[in-house]
Amino acid sequence: AVPQVAIVGRPNVGKSSLFNWLARRRLAIVDDHAGVTRDRMVTLIEHEDRFFELIDTGGIGIVDDDDLTDDVSRQIELAINSADVIVIVVDVQSGIMPLDESVAERLRGIERPVILVCNKADQPHQDIQAEEFHKLGRGHMVQVSTTQNRNREQLLDLIVDRL
Ligand code: GDP
Ligand code: MG
Repeated sequence: AVPQVAIVGRPNVGKSSLFNWLARRRLAIVDDHAGVTRDRMVTLIEHEDRFFELIDTGGIGIVDDDDLTDDVSRQIELAINSADVIVIVVDVQSGIMPLDESVAERLRGIERPVILVCNKADQPHQDIQAEEFHKLGRGHMVQVSTTQNRNREQLLDLIVDRL
């Protein structure tokens, strides 16, 4: 079977953007408003002769205060149950939000590779802002910008090395 890689994270960090950017196709809906992705999106990605299925668990929609809703919880369970590698996306421009901590917390005990993707590092100087996110991850971290096309290869390398 083709290994599965699931993208998780709170709304608006750029999960769907990351999905499209890695797929090099505009498959998932990108939107300024939280919670636009409703369905799970799946696409096949090839990198260095390796294949994996990338999943935008997205639906991670409607969030009341700082709590993960049942919907979010379900999406994370789905990722935990089906993914070989889990990609947590955060937003370096917003800094760590309570919901980022909740997502990271939920994935902390998982015996599966977890990669922390610090998105929206549009300028190299924003990489320094990503440092605070280290505590959320488990060592594997990469700064990217889907809009500025930064570090796509590095992220794909990190993923396929863990399949
Ligand atoms: P999702 O809710 O996590 O799926 O987030 P989306 O992919 O829908 O993106 C949310 C917003 O973040 C959109 O307005 C995107 O254009 C914006 N965005 C995504 N990636 C980047 C990035 O690398 N840099 C910046 N500045 N904005 C981004
Ligand atoms: Mg989305």
